[in-house]
Amino acid sequence: MSIAENILYFDEQLRNTPCRLVAVSKMHPIEKIKEAYDAGHRLFGENKVQELIDKRELLPHDIAWHLIGHLQTNKVKYIASFIDTIQSVDSLKLLQEIETRAERFARTAPINCMLQISIADEETKFGMSYDEAFALLQSEEYRRMQYLRITGVMGIATNTEDENKLRQEFIYLRECFQNLKDTFFMGSDYFREISMGMTSDWQLAVAEGSTMIRVGSGIFGARNYTK
Ligand SMILES: *Cc1c(COP(=O)(O)O)cnc(C)c1O
Repeated sequence: MSIAENILYFDEQLRNTPCRLVAVSKMHPIEKIKEAYDAGHRLFGENKVQELIDKRELLPHDIAWHLIGHLQTNKVKYIASFIDTIQSVDSLKLLQEIETRAERFARTAPINCMLQISIADEETKFGMSYDEAFALLQSEEYRRMQYLRITGVMGIATNTEDENKLRQEFIYLRECFQNLKDTFFMGSDYFREISMGMTSDWQLAVAEGSTMIRVGSGIFGARNYTK
């Protein structure tokens, strides 16, 4: 299927769900992103800062860009003027830098941030435990922030075909979301996102309450890692 057909397919699959599609365009060229854009898609995800900046310059500016990969504190300044959402917030220190830069750029809208929570059993490099996320939201430093808002949680499941295992990880992330919502965001409509599910497991993720699936190869085809 073409990229336009894939976009249409996901639009149809998600039509009666609360879930949105983040088209993950990392390692794919501008022409392919334009195809998805021309099919009406406006929400794209990249995992590297430099690649994101380069692509954004060449594309229409009504695209909402989500950063989904690890973000180093010293690179926040390169994306803070335009980024819609940083899905991969994994420390208070990073959040403080986002706050500082968001203020400096005098944005019209706050930077949306999501707390990345480790849900896979592999020793993954990035993401916080639930307890760390809880402590972050309890901190004085976070409570004083004004130029960003936390819109939900993000998780990357184990790379496995074991559906039971995947389901358990998605359920766990949903429970984390619900507990944080009940504790810190009761009156805050904007805290509503559970970003989970990729090409191989998005159906399961949607069944377990995902509000954002991040699909790359399922839209753009296989990535070429040898280039
Ligand atoms: C690359 C990536 C995806 C998309 O992966 P596919 O398997 O191609 O759908 C989703 N989330 C994150 C964090 C990624 O880095």
